Amino acid sequence: MQQIQMVDLMAQYANIQEDIDRAVIDVVRSSKYINGPEVKRFTEALSSYLGNPHVIPCANGTDALQIALMGLGLKPGDEVITATFTYVATAEVIALLGLKPILVDVHPDTFLIDVNAVEKAITPNTRAIVPVHLFGQCADMERLMALAEKHNLYVVEDTAQAIGADVQMSEDKTLKAGTIGHVGCTSFFPSKNLGCFGDGGAMFTRDADIAARLKKIANHGQDVQYYHDIVGVNSRLDSIQAAILNVKLPFLDQYNKHRREAAHRYNTLFANQSKVQTPVEVGYSTHVYHQYTLILDESVDRDGLKQYLADKGIPAMIYYPVPLHKQKAYKQEDNNYPITEDLCKRVISLPMHSELTNEQQEYITTHFNEYLNKHA
Ligand SMILES: *Cc1c(COP(=O)(O)O)cnc(C)c1O
Repeated sequence: MQQIQMVDLMAQYANIQEDIDRAVIDVVRSSKYINGPEVKRFTEALSSYLGNPHVIPCANGTDALQIALMGLGLKPGDEVITATFTYVATAEVIALLGLKPILVDVHPDTFLIDVNAVEKAITPNTRAIVPVHLFGQCADMERLMALAEKHNLYVVEDTAQAIGADVQMSEDKTLKAGTIGHVGCTSFFPSKNLGCFGDGGAMFTRDADIAARLKKIANHGQDVQYYHDIVGVNSRLDSIQAAILNVKLPFLDQYNKHRREAAHRYNTLFANQSKVQTPVEVGYSTHVYHQYTLILDESVDRDGLKQYLADKGIPAMIYYPVPLHKQKAYKQEDNNYPITEDLCKRVISLPMHSELTNEQQEYITTHFNEYLNKHA
C-alpha cells in the first residue's frame, strides 16, 4: 500500500506527468513567463467552465480576497461580516484594509456561516458579507443574496475550498460556487481541489464594471502601462502555473467526483461507529470534499486518537484548532460563539484527495475504529 498522505500531490501528478512536463517546458522555452498566452488561455477556459463570469487571475487566494474588497470601494471602518470558523485569510484581508471584521457563528452540522447570525450582526455600518464555502460545500447563497439585496450589501464568496461545486438556486438555476455573489475568490494552492505547483488565485464576477476595477487593482492600478489611476497591488498568476492549471482544469470534475466517492466510502466504513458524526451534505450544493471532517463525541480523546493514527502511519489534521475570535490578532469583544468553540474541540479531518484508494481507506478506518472501541 502507498504511504498515506493528507493530500497526495505526487500520485495525482504521476497520472498526468507527461502533459504537465510538456506544458512547463513549453513555457520555459517560450520565455513568456509573465502574462504569457497560457494565462489568457486559462482565464478563458475557467470562465467557460464556471458559466461565463469574468475571471481575473491573481497571485494567490488571499490576494483575491483583498483585491475583491478593494474593488468594492469599501471605506476604513466599514463592517464586513464573516464566519469565525475559517482559515485566517478571510479575516486578515478585512483587517488589513482597515475594515472591521464582524465574526459570526456557524451551523453545528455543516460548519457553514449561520445566516440568522449574519442577519443579527447587520448594522448601519455593514457593507459586505464574506461567506466561506468551508470544506467543499456552499453557504446558503440563496438566503445570503436575499439578505444582501434587502440591506444593500456586497457578497464576496470565499470559494478557495469549493471550486467546482454546483449550487442549486431557485427557478431551477444551477450555478457554480463563486459565481453567485458580487465577487468570488479562489486559490490554486497545491492542496486545493484545483491546485497548481506553487501559488495562484483568481476572482470571478458577472459585473463588467467590477471586473474592470479588479483587473486594474491587480495590475498596479493601471489600464495603460505607466498611467496609475488608483492605488493597486502587484498580483499575477505566473505563466508556468497557468500552464499547469490548463492541464488540470479538464480533470477538475473527475477529481471532485473521486473525492465525493471517497467521502461516501468513509461514511459507509463509519456507519456503525456511534462516536463520530460523518459530514452532513446540505442538499442545495454538491459537496466537493476539500476536507473530510468528522465531529467526534465529547468523550473521545482527540489528541490520543491523532497520536494513535500517527503511530500507524495515518495523518490527520485539526481544521481549525482555534477560532478567529480567539486569535490574538482578531479577538472579538463578545464571546458568543458556542457552536464554533465546541467544533474546534471536536473536529478531525482525515486524508482526502483524488487518488485515495479503497485499501487506504479501509486501513484508516480500521485503526480509527479500533482506537475508539478500545477507549470506550
Ligand atoms: C486556502 C484558503 C485561502 C487562501 O488561499 P492562499 O492561496 O493560500 O492565499 C483563503 N480562504 C480559505 C477558506 C482557504 O482555504
